[in-house]
Amino acid sequence: MTAYAFFQKKFVPMPEAKIGVMTQALHYGTALFEGIRGNWNAEKGEMYLFRLKEHYQRMHNGAKLLKISLDYSVEEMTRLTVELIRKNELKEDSYVRPLAYKSTEQMGVRLHNLDDDFLMFAIPWGRYLDTDSCKCGVSSWRRPDDNTIPTSVKATGMYINNALAKTEAIENGYDEAIMLSPDGHVSEGSGENIFLVIDGKLHTPATYNNILVGITRDTVMQLAKHELGIETIERPIDRAELYSSQECFLTGTAAHLTPVSEIDRRPLGDGQVGPVTTKLKKLYFDAIQGKLPKYMDWCTPVYKK
Ligand code: PMP
Repeated sequence: MTAYAFFQKKFVPMPEAKIGVMTQALHYGTALFEGIRGNWNAEKGEMYLFRLKEHYQRMHNGAKLLKISLDYSVEEMTRLTVELIRKNELKEDSYVRPLAYKSTEQMGVRLHNLDDDFLMFAIPWGRYLDTDSCKCGVSSWRRPDDNTIPTSVKATGMYINNALAKTEAIENGYDEAIMLSPDGHVSEGSGENIFLVIDGKLHTPATYNNILVGITRDTVMQLAKHELGIETIERPIDRAELYSSQECFLTGTAAHLTPVSEIDRRPLGDGQVGPVTTKLKKLYFDAIQGKLPKYMDWCTPVYKK
């Protein structure tokens, strides 16, 4: 079966979606991306795209910063994403990668006076962190400050930082990195936000701790509040608090909600996945698969059976 990408304003077979070697974004990281999940619900025979509106709103916000002009509104991008999944006839857990990039084939570091393009492709993709409970190491690489590269924007160039941290973590025998902010507080994983459970409450780094403000982070905070009556405290978190927390988990579109079992070779709690993490994980997976009627607004059905 032919796989299709959306490229230069139309759907084309994947082998035709190619960019030139002089493309500005390839050289200077001047592009924005999103990661969006399509979650397959086998009982209903339906694919649900999760929180499309929020992903495309985040892309539009980033586009202002990078001076990328997007030809499509949030609603149009939503419609194109549904069409992409249909065209590719995906009927399993999948991942959509939209990219808005500086497409001019010309040298020179800048953001102004360049053409832009918006592309998208979709692939079948199961687990990103291939583990039920993740071993993390605190990275020697720090998140940049907002005045170095704004971390609230998914700019491709910034992901050198994340790649350095991830590779260091894997080469040191961990599953994932935990990065600190320039001032030494806990920031986030290389592709996930982080939560601690302390005395029955959730604690997570605040937006000013150089995090990417995750859509999964927001999903989990809402589920915790409205379904379990658990508040989330957003605040600067010290490194030492990581080791004494009773439970810890990571959240992200690719990683979903992944429990953390140890950090820097120190087991958390009793080393088992704790009760709050277990409950939230179940709620989260039910929500993304369109099994919670109250949260269907988050789910866009693709096949509308
Ligand atoms: N932090 C970073 C650095 C990420 O790349 C991601 C993945 N987009 C996240 C956090 C989680 O964000 P979201 O829940 O919106 O996927």
